[in-house]
Amino acid sequence: MDLIFLGTGTSVGVPMIGCHCPVCSSKDPRNSRRRTSLYVRTERTAFVIDTPPDFRQQVLDFGIERVDAVVFTHAHADHIFGFDDIRRFNTLQNCVIPAYADAETLADVRRVFSYIGNSPSPKGLYRPLVDFVEIGGPFAVGDVKLTPLDVEHGCKMTGYLLEQGALRIGYVPDCHSMPRETLERLHGVDVMILDALRYRPHPTHICVEESLALLAKIGAKRSYLIHLCHDVEHAELESRLTSGIYVSYDGLRVRLT
Ligand SMILES: [Zn+2]
Ligand SMILES: [Zn+2]
Ligand SMILES: [Zn+2]
Repeated sequence: MDLIFLGTGTSVGVPMIGCHCPVCSSKDPRNSRRRTSLYVRTERTAFVIDTPPDFRQQVLDFGIERVDAVVFTHAHADHIFGFDDIRRFNTLQNCVIPAYADAETLADVRRVFSYIGNSPSPKGLYRPLVDFVEIGGPFAVGDVKLTPLDVEHGCKMTGYLLEQGALRIGYVPDCHSMPRETLERLHGVDVMILDALRYRPHPTHICVEESLALLAKIGAKRSYLIHLCHDVEHAELESRLTSGIYVSYDGLRVRLT
């Protein structure tokens, strides 16, 4: 299984519009962060978790030419506003593409993208063709099993446990707190990808220190911090992390066997 980090930034992205701080002006490409999204590929399937406003440029830059499904975590603008661009994959693959989300997220996505359905436009307009699927428990995309995980983020937010054979990956990009049941499900995963917005506390996200404390409880073999704002300078933070914990960056590819 390959994981490709299409975006690792918080809702406004980095650089922020009109900001000239050292991180926003950094020459290190790892400090340039588009909105958070993960591409998951196996020999049998390929899907994306969230379609940020940067989705089109992300798939172009990272050579993504196949999307068998879209999986949503929640309906904040930074996670859904690139959804319309899924229509190119309808054309490339000549099929309707399923989009999975919890009931609340699905209602918001359908409200925002009210013109999207699973049949062609009667006027011949170029619209996405999507089968919306409300998730109520574990489901499969190809050979990957996805288990939805409850996460508190000031709104309904669904993290995922991805499993393929013995491989287990946890994905929780936006998080303010994690119920005990979610922590237990993630315990000992091979890879954990977790929110770590910034150093100061935030009302709906965990900060770096809180993220590291959660990661210590989860005990993943490898962990990646994600959904970072311009307070985080890549090399500076990574130099202070213990082994097995990394700062993610756009375009990072992780191959798992
Ligand atoms: Zn977000
Ligand atoms: Zn800045
Ligand atoms: Zn959010």
